[in-house]
Amino acid sequence: MAENPFFAPSALPYRLPDFARIREEHYLPAFEHGMAEQLREVEAIVADPEPATFANTVEALERSGQILYRTTIVFSSVAASDATDRIREIETEIFPKLTKHDDAIRLNRALYERIKQVSTDDPQEAWLLEKYRVDFVRAGADLSEPEQRRLRELNEELTRLATAFSQNLLKASTASALVVGDPAELDGLSESAIKAIEKDGEYVLPLLNFTNQPALAELTNRDTRRRLYELSVNRAPENFGLAVRLATLRAERAALLGYSDHAAYSVADQTAKTTEAVEEMLGKLVGPAVANARREAEALTQEAGFPIEPWDWSFYAEKVRKSRYDFDGAELRPYFELDRVLRDGVFHAAGELYGITFTERDDLAGYHPDVRTFEVFDTDGSPLGLFLFDPYARPTKRGGAWMNNLVDQSHLFGHLPVVMNNLNITKPTQGPTLLTFDEVTTAFHEFGHALHGLFSDVRFPRVSGTEVPRDFVEYPSQVNEMWATWPSVLANFARHHETGEPVPAELLEKMKAAEKFNQGFATVEYLAAALLDWAWHKLAPGQTVEDPEAFETQALEGAGIAFELVRPRYRTNYFAHIFSSGVGGYSAGYYSYIWSEVLDAESVEWFKENDGLRRENGDHFRSALLSVGGSMDVMDAFRTFRGHDPRIEPLLERRGLQ
Ligand SMILES: [Zn+2]
Repeated sequence: MAENPFFAPSALPYRLPDFARIREEHYLPAFEHGMAEQLREVEAIVADPEPATFANTVEALERSGQILYRTTIVFSSVAASDATDRIREIETEIFPKLTKHDDAIRLNRALYERIKQVSTDDPQEAWLLEKYRVDFVRAGADLSEPEQRRLRELNEELTRLATAFSQNLLKASTASALVVGDPAELDGLSESAIKAIEKDGEYVLPLLNFTNQPALAELTNRDTRRRLYELSVNRAPENFGLAVRLATLRAERAALLGYSDHAAYSVADQTAKTTEAVEEMLGKLVGPAVANARREAEALTQEAGFPIEPWDWSFYAEKVRKSRYDFDGAELRPYFELDRVLRDGVFHAAGELYGITFTERDDLAGYHPDVRTFEVFDTDGSPLGLFLFDPYARPTKRGGAWMNNLVDQSHLFGHLPVVMNNLNITKPTQGPTLLTFDEVTTAFHEFGHALHGLFSDVRFPRVSGTEVPRDFVEYPSQVNEMWATWPSVLANFARHHETGEPVPAELLEKMKAAEKFNQGFATVEYLAAALLDWAWHKLAPGQTVEDPEAFETQALEGAGIAFELVRPRYRTNYFAHIFSSGVGGYSAGYYSYIWSEVLDAESVEWFKENDGLRRENGDHFRSALLSVGGSMDVMDAFRTFRGHDPRIEPLLERRGLQ
């Protein structure tokens, strides 16, 4: 195993993981060796006869576990984007062991005592020291021996349940797929879409990860729509039981740690800080959002000529878009060619705002032939980092879009950042890749996260780039979405892939007008999921749930968000954000998206007040906010950028909720 590529730092530029050398059989030995190495390093810190200092304790911890870190970061990236059966087996085997390993460090009494003895006058060191102290307390360092024993059991059980939940979900996307024998039942889908899902004389439409399947907007056969919708909301029924177990065990853990419920535990180290703050915020939005959705439902019923059902919503929403706004989203696609969107849109906007440039590096390979690598240069031409881009959907990739780090920036190690973006765009069998407007927006969104990672300029990896509170992390990425429709940016990238003609201004006007329609639906769908997450994690310790589906109904009714035509974006049985391993870190945290949208709407206003796409504006946002990562109180960083505390009004106006 001397040749295990995880055992030594990568020799490639920017320490890009050497994917060409990494094989599946390297992961388990690297995990095992990495955990053992880190435990030895921790023992050495504890055994140090010198008095505890920042350098020999906190900084030494920051430096520990490099093999484990390199392995974890590559494995979780591949497990999300290209998970073979073997990768899934390794996941099941290794996740409980990693949980145990974390507990072995965080519940190490001698280590905790040593951290408590450290003091420092340096503000950056003091910030990190406090972070470590809080991490240890939140992990149970202050508990008694028997309490810690129970905590370890709970953590292991929670990891096992969450892994089972996500694997059930992965299976359900095909196991609960819509299968039809006669292509006529799929009328409305394009010929190529129908052809793409043909399998041995049948047509198999797999489920995407959220409630409202995109095909519902196109299928003309009402019964096909009903069947697809019901398959979607009832998938992976065995996950209801797992969700109950997860929620009740989390409540027990919260009680052990001194909190009234998991929600209180979860928000304590977020910018929201208290459950009351979250409830006050969501409470302001529910009433107006439901009223908007009801108004939209009336328009849809009018269009349909009969009372619509949930599976009819998207279909008639498209019809209203066409009849009322004369807008058909498909007309835009020829103007959104993937490579142009990336280079002349996403990169161009970043160039104008921040003065950075990009060079493709074909010599630096990713884990899959479709991954592209770009070297990013700062304003003065000096190297800034690497950006990897994996745009296409594949059966081994999970749903959605995301950013992740492959190398964290830090001055401690002298590392420049290596970040990547994943999208889920269908790869055409031939010809150019043409995007929907939603996919264009997503590309800008994810690149906003990438910039947060690339511009990181901090001393310690623990607080690098996107290592900020979960209810803050979406904010910079949401801000970056604004450039997708900024006139000079749009004019630069939105050109017909055959003729090079710009998008007709009239078509853009229609798009902007039509965008406002269906905001009620989108807001209710989101809020219902956020409030469902909240209800599961407000369970009191010891409280049991006999009937999870009834619990779900009562939760939505209790919150005033129940509306039979608009179900939550995720029901309990497929709410991966809050119950899955890996991505499941949003328990009692799904509110974060709208929480950070308050900051986003404020910031978009600031850019507009200050003349938009200018280097001065980009430099201010970069230095006040993007470069500091989590190395200070992020709300102080926001105030430095904006000049005052966030107000909710810009968000209410944007979503039509005043
Ligand atoms: Zn995001």
